Formats: sequence, structure tokens, C-alpha cells
Amino acid sequence: MSSPTRRRTPQFSPPREKPTRWECHCQEPPVLLATYDRSGRVNIKARDRYWNVSSPVHTVCPKCGAEHFLDLPADDALFAPVP
Ligand SMILES: [Zn+2]
Repeated sequence: MSSPTRRRTPQFSPPREKPTRWECHCQEPPVLLATYDRSGRVNIKARDRYWNVSSPVHTVCPKCGAEHFLDLPADDALFAPVP
């Protein structure tokens, strides 16, 4: 009982850049708006086509009509999806 340090299970960063889901949480399951990776690339699937764009991106949820704005940092220093 000497060490109060609590360690969580170490999380290793994935070897590959795993795209992050950009979602609207207006329903369950959330509506997928697009995916993006650390390099700031945003992938949008529209019907049978993939759009590859760079942030900032502005879109509207097809379900609830809420506006979403995604502005990724140029670097991977701060990496958090905009709600
Ligand atoms: Zn929505």
C-alpha cells in the first residue's frame, strides 16, 4: 500500500492512422457525417463517391439538419473532434 499511483492500461497509439468518425449524435446510432485522420484529411462518402477534402469543412446533418463545422488543426498536436 505504498504506491498510490494508479495506472491505466497503457494505450499504444495505433500503428496506422485510424480515421476518426465525425458524427452527429442526434440519434442512435449517430449519423456519420464523415471521417477524418490526423493529417487533416476529411473523407466524405456521398452515395457511391468519396470526397477527399481538407478542413475546415462545413456540413449539415442529413437527419436533423444541424450544422456542423470541422476545423482540424494543421498538426496533430490538438486532436479533438468539434462537437
Ligand atoms: Zn443530426
